[in-house]
Amino acid sequence: MTDQVTIIGAGITGIACARHLHRAGLKVRVIDKGRNIGGRMSTRRTRQGLQFDHGAQDLATTDPDFAQMLRGLGGAVAPWADRGPVGSPGMSDVVRAMARDLDVTQGAMVAGLRRGDAGWQIAIDDIWQDAGRVALAIPAPQARDLLGADHPFAEPLAKVAYDPCVTLMAGLSPDAPQPFRWKSGTGAAAWIAHDGSKPDRQGQPLATWVMQADPDFSAQHIDVGFDQLACMMAPVLLDQLGAASDHLQYASAHRWLYSRVSRPLGQPFLADDGNGLLAGGDWALGPTARDGWASGTAMAAHLLADG
Ligand SMILES: Cc1cc2nc3c(=O)[nH]c(=O)nc-3n(C[C@H](O)[C@H](O)[C@H](O)COP(=O)(O)OP(=O)(O)OC[C@H]3O[C@@H](n4cnc5c(N)ncnc54)[C@H](O)[C@@H]3O)c2cc1C
Repeated sequence: MTDQVTIIGAGITGIACARHLHRAGLKVRVIDKGRNIGGRMSTRRTRQGLQFDHGAQDLATTDPDFAQMLRGLGGAVAPWADRGPVGSPGMSDVVRAMARDLDVTQGAMVAGLRRGDAGWQIAIDDIWQDAGRVALAIPAPQARDLLGADHPFAEPLAKVAYDPCVTLMAGLSPDAPQPFRWKSGTGAAAWIAHDGSKPDRQGQPLATWVMQADPDFSAQHIDVGFDQLACMMAPVLLDQLGAASDHLQYASAHRWLYSRVSRPLGQPFLADDGNGLLAGGDWALGPTARDGWASGTAMAAHLLADG
């Protein structure tokens, strides 16, 4: 079996897997279609000098191993309010710090996967290249699309379910009320975070807020355009804060088709050992970044045990 491993997906799952393999001396390459590392642990930065964690909000965990890994990232992780650790200065910095020293290719969409003479081959921009053994660390529906409906993984992957999530990112003038750092509720305002109160976010021209809707509201509004969605959600945020409409200086929306896993696989990954193919992600174990990290870590241990 070749010692080259290609990991598709540079979210916390793929990077956790790559880190372990790299430290064990394997030749590892990570490929991601996004412009930035981190996947759903993401930070949106705007031309106006604002930033928003519009995906994962915090990394509260009871897993001592995950907590220890986070502590090892030094300044890229800091405590926030009474919630637990967050990325510093943004959520994506956690995965970026984990990826230090790794070979990560960004902006490269893997559109095909096939068996070659010496392991797997992957297609990027219609060019096939050797990949050795492959670990898929992408959301289950995307893994299914890549592998095809006839692949043995397709059936278990189809059982995984996710909630959608529509998200508002808002900037308010600094004199607007800031009555809390975070709050949970229902409907459009299922989660509200004063994003700018997280560590190392100071110095922005506006007070930044992130509001995420619950799965029902999100499913009902998943096809609404971003501008309309922002117009619909912003008044809800202002109402929750007790702020006036002229406090609102910036609003934009984002939709996550796959946000948090509502029905996980129930095992840390899928394996086709005979062919050197694994698939994992948060979807294997549960709805949090910790679950992705645990899946990626388990895939690495499996690959190392396999030689
Ligand atoms: C709105 C929201 C709120 C959340 N809140 C929390 C929270 O508070 N706490 C918490 O712990 N978790 C939270 N989560 C969940 C957390 O973000 C995920 O569990 C975690 O980020 C999953 O990591 P992953 O690596 O498995 O997948 P992802 O982060 O989705 O990474 C997959 C990567 O694969 C790449 N990719 C996909 N297809 C391809 C392809 N064909 N070729 C190349 N690259 C590809 C993508 O670009 C992406 O970077 C939240 C998620 C969302 C969306």
